[in-house]
Amino acid sequence: RRRSAIRAQVSDPSRCRETDDDGFVLEDVPHLTNFIPDLPSYPNPLHKSQAYAIVKQTFVSPEDVVAEEIVVQKDSPRGVHFRRAGPREKVYFKSEEVRACVVTCGGLCPGINTVIREIVCGLNYMYGVDDILGIEGGYRGFYSKNTLQLTPKVVNDIHKRGGTFLRTSRGGHDTQKIVDNIQDRGINQVYIIGGDGTQKGAALIYQEVEKRGLQVAVAGIPKTIDNDIAVIDKSFGFDTAVEEAQRAINAAHVEVESVENGVGVVKLMGRYSGFIAMFATLASRDVDCCLIPESPFYLEGKGGLFEFVEQRLKENGHVVIVLAEGAGQEYVAQSMHTVNERDASGNRLLLDVGLWLSQQIKDHFTKVQKMAINMKYIDPTYMIRAIPSNASDNIYCTLLAQSAVHGAMAGYTGFTVGPVNSRHAYIPISRVTETQNIVKLTDRMWARLLASTNQPSFLNSDEVMLGKVDRAIIEQINNRKITSI
Ligand code: ATP
Ligand code: MG
Repeated sequence: RRRSAIRAQVSDPSRCRETDDDGFVLEDVPHLTNFIPDLPSYPNPLHKSQAYAIVKQTFVSPEDVVAEEIVVQKDSPRGVHFRRAGPREKVYFKSEEVRACVVTCGGLCPGINTVIREIVCGLNYMYGVDDILGIEGGYRGFYSKNTLQLTPKVVNDIHKRGGTFLRTSRGGHDTQKIVDNIQDRGINQVYIIGGDGTQKGAALIYQEVEKRGLQVAVAGIPKTIDNDIAVIDKSFGFDTAVEEAQRAINAAHVEVESVENGVGVVKLMGRYSGFIAMFATLASRDVDCCLIPESPFYLEGKGGLFEFVEQRLKENGHVVIVLAEGAGQEYVAQSMHTVNERDASGNRLLLDVGLWLSQQIKDHFTKVQKMAINMKYIDPTYMIRAIPSNASDNIYCTLLAQSAVHGAMAGYTGFTVGPVNSRHAYIPISRVTETQNIVKLTDRMWARLLASTNQPSFLNSDEVMLGKVDRAIIEQINNRKITSI
């Protein structure tokens, strides 16, 4: 009965704030992706597809939605929801009229090539599209006329390689020039793979396309190795990065175990959020202490890092510290007296916290404690970014690419794709760019890490209880824009 009430609610917004028999508030906050003007009217060619002939329910109803909150408490609104991704019975574009393009921007991440490959193969195999352009070298490739024709044959093997087959760049986003170019070339589907900056650029392209009244679908595929994209469950390349990060941690552990008073420091990716460091630590079991941007730490005094390192050296003869690149940036900035440097996209460049921390630990133990230590500093970040994606990321990238293709073919625009509560959905671009996903110190996963490493939390427990810590950190993070050097 409740389900039918909810169903009715989805299609009838006037029923907002109704309550069901058990007292659940049936409020809906739809975040539904926009359509290109005019409704889709052509039959989906998947009607005739062999691959889909055996699927029980080939098409997803445009009415189906995915809810952002999976657990809804009594007296709480049911919350935000998005359109469910998947093939639609009616499509907006005739296959022979599609002229698609794919572009990759921002930093590298395992899996980009798989997404490119699957967009090309998805468009071609599922929808019979054979006019697909690769825009080379990021956003500026639109107007510097660097393009190549993409076919399933051209992209056949690219998923086995790291990096991006289409090359990438920072900076160079000129909305007018890009949309002029889309118009001049007669492109009507734009697939944009990239991080937070790229998605902001994609939102501007979508707005300009809409302003000019062009019949163009703009689809973003969010890319961030750091897993810091809001709304979606996980970003592609993250699993691969965690797996590879473990190898670096293992190397550090082998090194420090083999010497006297060995101190290993491993710097991992994570500019605003410490997901990679947290998951690699949880996976590895060789880590004594994990430091992330969300959790402030201090070195000296009771409960500080130096005291903890000394204690572990006494107990075990070695210690391994993992830190995310965005951790402790305020300390490094103070000690280096540097001016803020920025990259071509306007992101502030990060200072090397790994080198800084290694030096601080070395100085403390040799000069203050008069104790010889063997410091091993490992920075595997570029090696991690450069590898091809693993099996689970490859499968995930395929789903993302196919969802994007189904969405664009159905005429949705200004959307990104990604799993929300494990169901793939179309999410308006603005939703994923307005906030960032960070490790919540008050969530269970960070508590699990603390329990697993038995490291100090460096936090005042009253603050944690009151939820002040997360809010303060979110504000801090929202005020900076950082990238790796
Ligand atoms: P990552 O941070 O994961 O490396 P990113 O997409 O955030 O990826 P950026 O270098 O910040 O990487 O941006 C990539 C592209 O997006 C660049 O070409 C840049 O010009 C453009 N871009 C960045 N921010 C914006 C913005 N606010 N508006 C329009 N375009 C932007
Ligand atoms: Mg970015």
